[in-house]
Amino acid sequence: MKRIVILFFILPLMGMIAQAQTENTPRVVVIGIDGLIPDQLDEVFTPHIDALKKRGAWTHRAKAVVPTSSNQNWSSMFYGATPDKHKMFPEEYAQSPTCSGYDKAFPSLFKLVKEKYQEGDVAAFYEWRHFRKLFLKNDFDKRRNVPLLTRVNSKLAGRHIVKSDLPILTFVHLDKTDIKGHKHGYGSEKYQRAIYQCDQAVGDIVKALEKKGILDETYILVVSDHGGKDKGHGGDSPEERHIPWILAGPDVQENYLMTGEINIYDTAPTIAKLLGVKVPDCWEGKVLEEPFVQPGLMQYENKIKAVKKLLPVLDKPGNLAKANQLMYEIESLESEYKWKQKPLEQLREKISVKTREANLRNVKVGNMAPDISFPDPEGKVRSLSDLKGKVVLLQFWASWCGPCRKENPYLVSAYNKYKEKGFEIFSVSLDSQKSFERWKKAIEKDGLVWPNHVSDLNSWNSKPAREYGVESIPAIFLVDQQGKIVASMLRDVEIDAEVGKLLLK
Ligand SMILES: [Zn+2]
Ligand SMILES: [Zn+2]
Repeated sequence: MKRIVILFFILPLMGMIAQAQTENTPRVVVIGIDGLIPDQLDEVFTPHIDALKKRGAWTHRAKAVVPTSSNQNWSSMFYGATPDKHKMFPEEYAQSPTCSGYDKAFPSLFKLVKEKYQEGDVAAFYEWRHFRKLFLKNDFDKRRNVPLLTRVNSKLAGRHIVKSDLPILTFVHLDKTDIKGHKHGYGSEKYQRAIYQCDQAVGDIVKALEKKGILDETYILVVSDHGGKDKGHGGDSPEERHIPWILAGPDVQENYLMTGEINIYDTAPTIAKLLGVKVPDCWEGKVLEEPFVQPGLMQYENKIKAVKKLLPVLDKPGNLAKANQLMYEIESLESEYKWKQKPLEQLREKISVKTREANLRNVKVGNMAPDISFPDPEGKVRSLSDLKGKVVLLQFWASWCGPCRKENPYLVSAYNKYKEKGFEIFSVSLDSQKSFERWKKAIEKDGLVWPNHVSDLNSWNSKPAREYGVESIPAIFLVDQQGKIVASMLRDVEIDAEVGKLLLK
């Protein structure tokens, strides 16, 4: 009896775990465009590859191995090593070198991924038939040769992605570019036309991932095996050696041009890492870090996302607190991530406009005065709300503000005249840490003898000034016995008159 109970308990749990693993398993699609000179992407209309660049990290300066031949480079890409090491030439497994920990053949990325994910699909759709000589048939769950039919190939691969329960690793090889390059010249009009078609094929793959609902969680890598010069390749000229390396995916930097060194044989280790596959010692490539959002930056990105999500909330009235909170969030990000200011600046601008609007809606004559609670120069916290029952003049000023200092005598005279009759002044200074001493001296010098002097020492970033929508100083508000704002923008002699009127009520 006991045993049955336990089984009932465990079985649903096991189901949950298995499901979670499938859901969290990353997927990788590698699209290899044969003989693609990366800078040609700037010459040809390639909206789908452009979109991937925008979503991801990319370079036109990754490097193929020499000789810049197809078999050497596709091998280096998926064996994670230089030709000297993987020795996939002349396309014979008989000569395959050993790799410690792996009996028989030198392990390809396909083999290792297939081994790790028994339930997933490792597939290759390739136009160039020699591709099959470079890798063992057993390394794949599915391997299709679709000669010279670019869009048929991409659509077949797309269908596979949609149908497969777990398309863990899919390689799509597009050959049209290289064929047109050999025939008409790399960079020729027909070659460029082929690039356009390959880009459309990239679009087919993206569409399939979208249809399957896994576009956001899939890594898409667009690469090439080599470039070309005149009507061939094989040498080590920049035109032949430079290849594109364009990666988009979950934690990949957005719209990010990589400047670090990338070799074609870094591809396998980097994908292995993404898929949680152990990188064999015999692989020479390194796991690339540059394309990915760094852990610290990840936090930053998440915070930015959270802030962006909250932005529309600010349009609704009554969200002042939220608006101010967002502003502080942005400021803390700005001080924490000093090297990533640009997106923050734009965001700050947006929020500050909205915050200002919200503050202006909130702080106006007839509304209750928001509380202000900050330390005085001695560190004692003083709150506006403690003065309830009195008529309060709320002053925003600073020691460095000439017009404020000129206005102070009017405040002093009103204070002396009315202080016994239920009048108080609450002074908020926009001084900074730097002008702290000057603030204290100005209070003394101008004879501002009332006890309520506060500041967060943040200058123009003063929190209370922002909450009161103060954009220039001096700024003076009058608050009645109930804590309601009854006047704003008071000046000079108006002060005495208005305070007198209120006290008579
Ligand atoms: Zn090639
Ligand atoms: Zn070729």
